[in-house]
Amino acid sequence: MQLPWPRICLAFSFTVSSVTVGRTRLAGPAILMPSPSRADLAALPKLDLHRHLEGALRLTTLRAIAQQHGLDLPADSLAALRPYVQVVDGERSFRQFLAKFDVLRRFYLSPEIIHRLAFEVIEDAARDNLHYLELRFTPAALASSGRFSLADVTDWVIAAVAEAGRVYPKLQVRLIVSVNRHEPVALAEQVAQVAADRQARGIAGLDLAGDEVNFPAAPFRGVFQAARQAGLGCVAHAGEWTGAAAVRDAIEHLGVRRVGHGVRVVEDPAAVALARERAIVFEVCLTSNLQSGVVAAFAAHALPRMNALGLRTTLNTDDPGVSGITLSDEYQIAVDALGLSWADLQQALFTAADASLLPPAERAALAARLRAALDRLDPVSE
Ligand SMILES: [Zn+2]
Repeated sequence: MQLPWPRICLAFSFTVSSVTVGRTRLAGPAILMPSPSRADLAALPKLDLHRHLEGALRLTTLRAIAQQHGLDLPADSLAALRPYVQVVDGERSFRQFLAKFDVLRRFYLSPEIIHRLAFEVIEDAARDNLHYLELRFTPAALASSGRFSLADVTDWVIAAVAEAGRVYPKLQVRLIVSVNRHEPVALAEQVAQVAADRQARGIAGLDLAGDEVNFPAAPFRGVFQAARQAGLGCVAHAGEWTGAAAVRDAIEHLGVRRVGHGVRVVEDPAAVALARERAIVFEVCLTSNLQSGVVAAFAAHALPRMNALGLRTTLNTDDPGVSGITLSDEYQIAVDALGLSWADLQQALFTAADASLLPPAERAALAARLRAALDRLDPVSE
């Protein structure tokens, strides 16, 4: 799709030759195209299709829980706790990245805690001016204390999201349940059933996550087929810590139309061709890829190449708590380090709306709301 001159830029406040341009739409092409400021990107209405609840927790809240419940973790200060639950300088491997989630499983101690964590994740998304969020969570992780059922923890997340929705009505949220490759297929079947039974309450999809290096997607084929037949949207992490073959596996074995990350698809022209033919949408998460060792530097990231190849891409956070970022930060990196233009950002936003796990009429309504929000730049947190 050929995009018009990125009119969102024209709606921001910036100064051109001492003339302040406010929120008035200007006719004709802009003469100057300043780089967006942090404030510009914060004000941009945003959509996130790939964010894990467990990876989006506030460090301050984790510290409070650790102190209140006497967890065997250093919680005297945020600095002391940080390395256990957040990536710190120099960590660049998927094992270090995944290790944070093992620690985080120790925090899911009560229904009240799970409710608080989920509510705050939605609150933080609203404060970063997200207008649509597909929040994925792993019921087996939240239930890992062994004291709660998969159904109960799922219901607690649903209730927290519903409550947050009443406080932040401009942020539309749908939920995706994740199952891990490195956990049993039988567990995935249970989780998928819990999700399928709760579609009317905001669960829209099933996701395959976990250790991509040692565990293939193929054993989960039946789970995903059943989920799709039950009405759930299907997505999968692939082509992140292994190569393009994993992207092909996710598309061919699991039948997904969206791939989490998938950035290594560019290594294989046949996989690129398959993704283009099937109109696959890639959920790109820049900082996550750097921190888990997928790329050595932002400048080496495949996103510009993916766009040049005509692949459909979106910008997402993955784990803003673990990574210490917001979606606005990711947009800033996309512009500053990868050279994406305003048109690229706008394209990513509308691709996300089109690829959302909503019924067609709601997808169209989301795109219309996005267009209206871009036109008036009305932050959801106001
Ligand atoms: Zn992810």
